[in-house]
Amino acid sequence: MTDLRYLSFSSYCRQKYGHRIFRIPLDAGMTCPNRDGRIGYGGCIFCAGGSGDFAYRYTGVLPDPEDIPYTHARRDPKDEYIAYFQAYTNTYAPAERLRELFEPVMKDERFAGIAIATRPDCLGEDVLALLKELKMTYPEKILWVELGLQTISEKNAVWMRRGYPLAVFDQAVMHLHALSIDVIVHLIIGLPDEDENQVGKTIDHLNALHVEGVKLQLLQILEGTDLAELWKRGEIREMSEDEYVRIIGMCIAWLDPHTVIHRLTGDGNAQTLLAPLWSLCKREVLNHIERYLRENDIVQGKEYTNHG
Ligand code: SF4
Repeated sequence: MTDLRYLSFSSYCRQKYGHRIFRIPLDAGMTCPNRDGRIGYGGCIFCAGGSGDFAYRYTGVLPDPEDIPYTHARRDPKDEYIAYFQAYTNTYAPAERLRELFEPVMKDERFAGIAIATRPDCLGEDVLALLKELKMTYPEKILWVELGLQTISEKNAVWMRRGYPLAVFDQAVMHLHALSIDVIVHLIIGLPDEDENQVGKTIDHLNALHVEGVKLQLLQILEGTDLAELWKRGEIREMSEDEYVRIIGMCIAWLDPHTVIHRLTGDGNAQTLLAPLWSLCKREVLNHIERYLRENDIVQGKEYTNHG
């Protein structure tokens, strides 16, 4: 069972809360400093719009989680929901505006808390003060922050136009941990020249920072992005499924066994995905990973002591 070979989000929730927790993805109408000109105009090279494809447009009135179609799959009445501020950069606004967005969720009994996706360079003193206040006012609620690091390679950070150096990420993790806020880090597998060794360096770095969770995601080439133009000109190659599964196996083996793995592959948008098309069959990719872990007797943290 894959679930027993690594600490998945669902198994972590069952251990910690005794039930599952589902994210309700929200689009709060934010933008991103990497798109509106404060840092850059083009956005990250792979970005087709801030990951908000499946998000509910939140304009001040929270959706009833029971009305979101995919949550109908929920089986146990004890299961809970968190509001996941997903689209674009969800701390890129004045703190008072953020309070208007976040506080209603904390007060709402239908939600167990919030997850906030953002950039590490958008966690200024005012935002951190607000997060601290929310954490202290609603201690029973979940509050975590998701940061899109993608890689520790400074060369690839420049290539993808991420717009901040690794030191900024490290400092943001330190600030969030000082407030006892969990940090979930997004990584991309399949960046140029990133073999197992380079990805392993990123995993080691996260182990050293003791981040609470990771989301692993394949580099997907989406129509309308600058990455798609490189791909059409043959200047970037897509990753094969075998390579992806092998690197995921390495990540699981090297990762601190206490770090929660929130995702092993992404949900591709079939309308805009150009490559790799195999990634659309998410269930098959997960089965492939499961088989690979079993055949190679990999469990999370198997190699951690050698690298952590
Ligand atoms: S930081 Fe996020 S929203 Fe902004 S350009 Fe990069 S991927 Fe897109």
